[in-house]
Amino acid sequence: MTATLKNPFDISGKNAIVTGGAMGIGFGIVKRFVEAGANVVIADIDLNAAEAAAKKLAEGPGKAVAMRVDVSQEDAGDKMVEKCVKEFGSVDILVNNAGIFPSVPMLEMEPALFDKVIAINLKGLAFASKAAAAQMIKQGKEGKIINIASIDSLHPSMVGLAAYDASKGGVLMFTKNFALEVAPHGILVNAIAPGGITTEGTSGPIGSLTKEQMEQVLDQFKQLIPLGRMGEPDDIAKVTLFLASPAADYMTGEMIVVDGGRLLK
Ligand code: NAP
Repeated sequence: MTATLKNPFDISGKNAIVTGGAMGIGFGIVKRFVEAGANVVIADIDLNAAEAAAKKLAEGPGKAVAMRVDVSQEDAGDKMVEKCVKEFGSVDILVNNAGIFPSVPMLEMEPALFDKVIAINLKGLAFASKAAAAQMIKQGKEGKIINIASIDSLHPSMVGLAAYDASKGGVLMFTKNFALEVAPHGILVNAIAPGGITTEGTSGPIGSLTKEQMEQVLDQFKQLIPLGRMGEPDDIAKVTLFLASPAADYMTGEMIVVDGGRLLK
């Protein structure tokens, strides 16, 4: 990619897939990408929400199309790639954002829920990366894969997230190993570790926590953020745009922490 000094963040004309793009951090990323002139497949388990998201962005300049996908299904990666190629002609950027974070202490954890967390947050991300990278290699051009990890990839936030933290720790090391594997093809793989971000997903009941308990948890969490506020989806979206753009052309296998300084405490 060539970067002009005027706009090193130029991704206009690029074609992207954003998983879990219908709301929360994912929608924030889709918005920034479309605003920057990229075309985006919003790949979400909730088709109505994905379609509503695409509709909100109909004015462009980039295009947004919706598709239903459950990233934990074996053929999810291939289906997303197929859709992006059919709609836009190529896959240049994949953002693996879809994730779940049920809060259930390990001592109460059922194997099926543990499997589900790993299947969506880690295995789904890995096989979507495989499918996108295979397409990028076929295209013979460079590509970018960006994985939404978590500060929990580095340090546990609270009791109840053992499965989640195992999945997100896995995302960090998957990112590094896959970056090594696909570097010879010019495919860059990086991650972002968000801290506490206010989204639809963090605003309701989660796992065994009620909405009220969740509000309390978030309130306590906020006290520990040096910048004094929870993050917004756009705080993550702007850094995702950076990693997707030519400004990050010499970065791979890295994880950027975006947490208002939370891990400093
Ligand atoms: P969110 O508000 O719950 O949005 C996630 C989106 O992904 C939803 O549209 C959800 O659909 C969709 N989704 C869930 N399971 C899916 C699946 N199997 N296949 C496809 N789409 C699926 O979540 P968020 O807070 O924006 O979090 C996004 C990512 O950031 C996650 O990977 C999360 O772990 C990570 N993260 C978030 C925070 C935070 O504080 N928010 C902090 C660190 C990391 P439904 O709503 O229908 O399930």
